[in-house]
Amino acid sequence: MILETNSPQETFSAGRQLGEKAFPGQVITLTGDLGVGKTVFTQGLAKGLGIEEPVNSPTFTIVQVYDEGSLPLYHFDVYRIGDIEEMDEVGFEEYVMGDGVSLIEWANLIEEILPENRTEVIIEKDLEKGFDYRKIIINEMK
Ligand code: ADP
Ligand code: MG
Repeated sequence: MILETNSPQETFSAGRQLGEKAFPGQVITLTGDLGVGKTVFTQGLAKGLGIEEPVNSPTFTIVQVYDEGSLPLYHFDVYRIGDIEEMDEVGFEEYVMGDGVSLIEWANLIEEILPENRTEVIIEKDLEKGFDYRKIIINEMK
């Protein structure tokens, strides 16, 4: 599925729609350059799960857990990951096997440990279409 948005609000809303359809154990990977809208999409997704507290990129921790929604949200931002073994230390495997929704920003950096069964979200800019234009590609991988 391919969506096109022209504002942060529209990207938020795309995330919210995915959040409303989320299921236990779902793994959602987010890929795209810095500033493309991964966190905006995540904030919408959290809203779709009924999470009201503010969601930001976890800067000093790799994972942030939100428990107040219809499903727990495990929000990973692996941008600063040094070594793939750090993912073991934070318990990545346990989260992915858990009943919550695991969402991973910069998932391409940990490609080798991603489960095959996942929802892949790729966000791209196209400056020819304007500064606020984003293409959002959502693929169910199996
Ligand atoms: P990332 O997490 O990918 O680094 P952020 O979500 O933190 O990016 O930031 C995206 C930035 O781009 C925000 O400042 C947002 O206002 C801006 N923006 C402009 N247009 C869009 C759009 N269509 N969708 C999402 N964000 C947009
Ligand atoms: Mg981010």
